[in-house]
Amino acid sequence: MMFFLEKRDLPELLRRAGAFFEIIAPVLINGEPQLVSWRGEDLALSAPNPLLPPTRLFLPPRETLFTYLQESGLYTFEVPEVRNRLIFGLRPCDLRALSLLDRIMLAEPFDELYSKRRRSTAIIALNCTEPDESCFCAQMGAGPEAHEGFDLLLTDLGERYLLETGSPAGIMLARASEELLERGDDVEKRKLMRESRDRIMSARPWLSPERMRSRLREIDWRSLSEECISCGGCSFVCPTCHCFTIADLGLPDGERIRCADSCILSGFHRMASGANPKARAEERLSSWYMEKLEHMPVRTGLLGCVGCGRCDRVCFSGLHRTDIFR
Ligand code: SF4
Ligand code: SF4
Repeated sequence: MMFFLEKRDLPELLRRAGAFFEIIAPVLINGEPQLVSWRGEDLALSAPNPLLPPTRLFLPPRETLFTYLQESGLYTFEVPEVRNRLIFGLRPCDLRALSLLDRIMLAEPFDELYSKRRRSTAIIALNCTEPDESCFCAQMGAGPEAHEGFDLLLTDLGERYLLETGSPAGIMLARASEELLERGDDVEKRKLMRESRDRIMSARPWLSPERMRSRLREIDWRSLSEECISCGGCSFVCPTCHCFTIADLGLPDGERIRCADSCILSGFHRMASGANPKARAEERLSSWYMEKLEHMPVRTGLLGCVGCGRCDRVCFSGLHRTDIFR
């Protein structure tokens, strides 16, 4: 179903959704857009996509998997509660990244906590009519328009939004605000999305997954790695990166935690013996790209890069991915 929604009515639609969910939305904090619990602040919808991706709301940088308590030699375990929440303003590239994570985290070995978070989260996605200059989602086939994976989808038409439903939960949310909506059509949206896609493609017409893959074995990773300080920043902001480490904190009682990890970091591949098959930065950097461009597509059927441009935005050494592949 398609509706028009006046821009001034968007906060009211979100407030009504707040009766069912905790609302997570992008707002400016110290001038930077971040996805946070929304309490009616101005929404940062014209700012670039938040640097910390929404996939980290499903696989947080640090989380408690369970707590354990020992009594008379027997352990009891407590698993954290998961709240119903609605993420507002999720971009098409991040939706695609979420689909990819689903194919990994919900396959064997099945991740219970990730699954609970996915099932208790509704999504209002936002098509990108004003892409950032770092975006190359169109070349990666992941944007700037969302086609699936949302409950509601908004497109900015200037004075108003086009609102589309994508699931039974989306229809329920639209019904809760039906007097704010009027029947709509996607004529204007189709034109805007064509223009947005053309803009992204014309910024880097030479870029394609095939080209990136064919360049993988030609790139001089050694000289590139001399500029990389192995900080891991690129992987911590990447929406498709999902490596983690687990530790038990406390004995006899305590918690098992899971923290984001990164194959870019030198200790990631180190074994108990001290041997490290990827001790050199060039090996880690090249395998990061191989994972995204060659291995993830085989495992999931989806490219491991969605062209969100975050790795370029965050890199302290100014290593620009798309330049590397050029
Ligand atoms: S590799 Fe870079 S551009 Fe691609 S999805 Fe990850 S952060 Fe985004
Ligand atoms: S953000 Fe840049 S410097 Fe840091 S690990 Fe990634 S490529 Fe290297």
